[in-house]
Amino acid sequence: MLLWGKLMSTNRSGHIRLTSHPGHRSPGRYPLRWGAAARERGPIIGTVTSPNDRNVIGAHGGSYALYRALAVSSGALNPIARPDLTNTAPVVDIGPFPQWSEPGRIVSLDPWGHRVAQDFAEEIGSGLDLRPSIAVTKARLTIPEFASKAWGVETDGEIVRKGGDISVTKAAVDPVWHLPGIAERFKVSEDKLRRTLFEQTGGIYPELVTRPDLSVFLPPIGGITLYIFGDPSAVADCKRTLTCRVHDECNGSDVFGSDICTCRPYLIHGIAECVKDAQRGGAGLIVYNRKEGRALGEVTKFLVYNARKRQEGGDQAATYFERTECVAGVQDARFQQLMPDVLHWLGITRIDRLVSMSNMKYDAITESGIEIGERVPIPAALVPPDAQVELEAKKAAGYYTPETTPSAEDLKAVVGRDLNEF
Ligand SMILES: [Zn+2]
Repeated sequence: MLLWGKLMSTNRSGHIRLTSHPGHRSPGRYPLRWGAAARERGPIIGTVTSPNDRNVIGAHGGSYALYRALAVSSGALNPIARPDLTNTAPVVDIGPFPQWSEPGRIVSLDPWGHRVAQDFAEEIGSGLDLRPSIAVTKARLTIPEFASKAWGVETDGEIVRKGGDISVTKAAVDPVWHLPGIAERFKVSEDKLRRTLFEQTGGIYPELVTRPDLSVFLPPIGGITLYIFGDPSAVADCKRTLTCRVHDECNGSDVFGSDICTCRPYLIHGIAECVKDAQRGGAGLIVYNRKEGRALGEVTKFLVYNARKRQEGGDQAATYFERTECVAGVQDARFQQLMPDVLHWLGITRIDRLVSMSNMKYDAITESGIEIGERVPIPAALVPPDAQVELEAKKAAGYYTPETTPSAEDLKAVVGRDLNEF
């Protein structure tokens, strides 16, 4: 405790190291070769305790890096504390897959991020502060909806256990951006991308503009959670079937059951379809992206709800996208270009059943070279009445539907609940 006190005071009274200082421009001991195999590529070093070893911009943990700063600031966390990685290894092997070294195939996560303790044991042993950006574990899920026979989820004793719990393998993935690759994906110059990231974050990472030699950025944003149903080795095996739903976070519906959208019902439908595929000998995969409110955030989302409900003529499918654009300036900030990276990380080359109606997700996945068999829409019975506004507007805008696409006239007839009716 005494030692910790001393370290804390040292940390507080020390000189501030400006990350943009010219003294840090050397390539350092650990240059990165993005796309190469782990040992050749080199470890991703985001430690803040040993600035000369760093070979990336930003810090580990995505947005949680700021909570870590608060913990250090308040004295609750020793700033030089390192994770003890004993027994934290992935519960199943994932990869390596050929996609991990295909140029430009994976640019928004570290494909070796779950194997840090294994691939760089030597460096960790010699005192280098390395941290995994991916963790793989197991869980059991209790989905209350499946108590109803209507979902058709049957107990098999292995995937769906006696009592109804579902066995899964799950992975958490923090973002790791290769800036040249991200720029290429968005068809902008790397300079422009770096400058915009710098300016739009209020200048939080000066190295974006002062250290062109650092090409990897750990952005302070949410990551991805994967839920794998059935045998994880079936996911990349094109001789076995794969059902997949790519789902973007919607806290209001996913967790709280809000009925203004189809998010939770479609997610649960996706899980049911995943379970059934796993029970047939294939595998199921839910990709859950932390991109709340089309990556515009919940504050924007709730403002849009009010604007939708209060507009003249009520909450109409005809003006659904317009209302979002009025508040946010853009209809959608999810930009699915980066989304397929995690599918390539899992070694996927074909999705037999994609449980999504999104044309943007479908296009991003197929354009990235993954084949898609069937597209599975949400069953009509699962759509809450107030969510018809969103669903019909999306169908008119290009969402996949086996039915006729609604016309402009049809959209005018779809009106949701008034604010006084809540
Ligand atoms: Zn939703």
